[in-house]
Amino acid sequence: MKLIKPNDLMPTNKNEGISGLVLETGKSVLFHSKNKWKSIAKEFLPEDAESIICVPIVRSNEILGILLLSSTKKRAYEKSQLMIVDILCSHFAIAIENARHYEETKAKSERCALTKLYNYRYIEAKLNEEFSRLHNGSRDLLSLIILDIDHFKKVNDTYGHQSGNEILCELADRLTNLIDTAGIAARYGGEEFIVLMPDTSKEDAIGWAELIRQTIANRPFILKQTIDGRSSSTKVYITASIGVAAAPDDADDSLALIRHADRALYVGAKQAGRNRVAEYVK
Ligand code: GH3
Ligand code: MG
Ligand code: MG
Repeated sequence: MKLIKPNDLMPTNKNEGISGLVLETGKSVLFHSKNKWKSIAKEFLPEDAESIICVPIVRSNEILGILLLSSTKKRAYEKSQLMIVDILCSHFAIAIENARHYEETKAKSERCALTKLYNYRYIEAKLNEEFSRLHNGSRDLLSLIILDIDHFKKVNDTYGHQSGNEILCELADRLTNLIDTAGIAARYGGEEFIVLMPDTSKEDAIGWAELIRQTIANRPFILKQTIDGRSSSTKVYITASIGVAAAPDDADDSLALIRHADRALYVGAKQAGRNRVAEYVK
């Protein structure tokens, strides 16, 4: 049995082949022997295939997929069996739709609606997962970077809350592009962000934190504004203070790791003058 998605059909042109016929008409087909279908078939079928049933999987007038059954026997399927497969496919369509809804809801619940970064809930679960790995020996290192934008209240007061939001989104993009697959970036809350870096030593994480600091401080954030139909852009320079802590050296559990990175951020970076990276020291 093979499920072919409409955009993943074996024929290059989706209007071709047996599946193309089913897609076009939205109706099931039944062939009793190869000589009935060989002139139209374009998809991959076993060399010795004879009987074929091909059924669309339809939900809310949308064809979600095509089910194609083949047998090496001639006259292997009867019309009554085709009807059963039709009914099964309508249940299948509901299951596919439910699975899609579940995936969409899950994806939304893990993301911050504004920046599209992972949210605190997601990163908290990831942190606990990572600590389980550290405890069972399948992971040796875990570093955490936490950053807080400097004087962000002033940015909001000067340019407005909406412009503040634009800056948060741009910062989130810079962070994701920089970190890429080296870690997981998340919005911790407000104007605070976290980067979780599995398999990364504290020394390397401090290097990453310094890169993050520069990525924020070295290039202005461009605010596009339209006033009286005229568009203009304003360059805003911002900085961030960053704290770094690492497990297992600095912490035995996820809350302690966050607390220690946060302490490094406030004591080592904010209080020392902002726009800097600080590591947790015991
Ligand atoms: P510090 O350098 O000490 O961190 O100063 P700060 O002004 O950044 O810190 P404070 O905690 O006083 O203010 C944080 C500001 O971040 C206040 C709040 O309005 C702003 N903020 C938090 N979340 C959002 C948001 O989603 N959008 C916007 N535009 N601003 C936000
Ligand atoms: Mg803050
Ligand atoms: Mg701040």
